[in-house]
Amino acid sequence: MSFSTDKVARAVRQAVTDGLLAEDRPVAGLLDVGGVRESVSALRGAFAGVPEVLHAFAAKACPLVPVLRLLADAGLGCEVASPGELRLALDAGFAPERIVLDSPAKTRGEIREALALGVALNADNLGELDRIDALRPEHCSSVLGLRVNPQVGGGSIGAMSTATAQSKFGVALRDPGARERVVEAFVRRPWLTRLHAHVGSQGCPLPLIAEGLAALHGLAEEIDARAGRRQVTSLDLGGGLPVNFADDSVTPTYAAYVAALTAVEPALLDGRYGVVTEFGRSLLAKNGVTVARVEYVKEAGGRRIALTHAGAQVATRTVFMPASWPLRVSAYGPDGTPKQGPLTPYDIAGPLCFAGDVVAHAHPLPELAEGDLVVLHDTGAYYFSAPWAYNSLPRPAVYGCLFEEDGEDGREVGEEEGEESARDGRRGAGVLFATVRAAQSAREISLENGADRADALLAGFAARPRG
Ligand SMILES: *Cc1c(COP(=O)(O)O)cnc(C)c1O
Repeated sequence: MSFSTDKVARAVRQAVTDGLLAEDRPVAGLLDVGGVRESVSALRGAFAGVPEVLHAFAAKACPLVPVLRLLADAGLGCEVASPGELRLALDAGFAPERIVLDSPAKTRGEIREALALGVALNADNLGELDRIDALRPEHCSSVLGLRVNPQVGGGSIGAMSTATAQSKFGVALRDPGARERVVEAFVRRPWLTRLHAHVGSQGCPLPLIAEGLAALHGLAEEIDARAGRRQVTSLDLGGGLPVNFADDSVTPTYAAYVAALTAVEPALLDGRYGVVTEFGRSLLAKNGVTVARVEYVKEAGGRRIALTHAGAQVATRTVFMPASWPLRVSAYGPDGTPKQGPLTPYDIAGPLCFAGDVVAHAHPLPELAEGDLVVLHDTGAYYFSAPWAYNSLPRPAVYGCLFEEDGEDGREVGEEEGEESARDGRRGAGVLFATVRAAQSAREISLENGADRADALLAGFAARPRG
């Protein structure tokens, strides 16, 4: 549910003991695996009254194959929005019929592949429907839908608001003539059976999301009435439950989301339409933290600055939009025990070479020193899993944590048998780690940036560039 301050302290201490955080391993992401399973349970519990529902995790929130496989194992489907995300979802083991493809700029090749696999697909616009007309094989098992923008307005973060009047996503439903064109598009295509909307993510209030989804329901009924048949069989409700970044509590809950939806449109979840959800941030954010070593502490203009290894490469949104994406920071000693003492404001800066690379400004913390560790809380989604390659910083290692009390079958963590767990699982007092992604090496960074064709601009010219 939430990687509580208490559990974070235990995980950090054990990670230091196990050598996962050290001078030459100065930053890592940690995920609370039991917490992720609890979040999935809360989601499934909130929708338990809906007869037909597919909870498709939005892969972009945490596109790590072992995490996706964990979610598949917990009963989720997967929402993808690029060929790379589709590959990750397939490699994680999601059955094609439990994958939903939503990218806004699908090529003909991507559409063809999705239809051949039987992956569900939501067209972004009417032009994409024309393409599907031409590409749809005779026997096609893909559920096909159309994304609409109910244009109910935005929330507190413009870049996260997908239902504004001029949003780039979906068919803008309130534009003159648009609703009629959508209804006609459905009536002409009996294979088009799903309506999709994603009203917004972080910063969008529940009543706004509910209003947009009620509009989706109203449109489905109108299409069915005009078609004279039950044409729309499912509604894809998008994602976007906001996450509380201020403390450990999970609010709003999935139950509150369901209550908000049914308050505005009681029929929305009554089972007449199958339901797809696409939650991302709310499933993972509070189950992950970023831990980084303090390399130096200095002072400038009367402000204390801690130079750490977590900057914009792992907290891109927070660095560029600090007011919209503030993070809680806590401090630990070199051995991983929580720091005590009077609080002083610190700028928690990162390792990147631009002045704005600061993840927290004037954040009150106990006195920091070289070798201490700082924790950026609630960073399990869209942070270490979506690194930015600026300054050629490596993608950081990510570890899953399993706590003693969360072990399966009541087994004590550390008692597991077999070579696999002895090799991959790191044992310790109540916390086990599994590597989700190893830190990227300098050699890998170089290869990714053309090291295997270093001569290309000296001698690599050919009439037609190859590969
Ligand atoms: C990003 C996205 C989601 C997930 O949003 P969260 O805020 O992470 O829950 C769901 N659906 C679509 C179409 C998206 O683009």
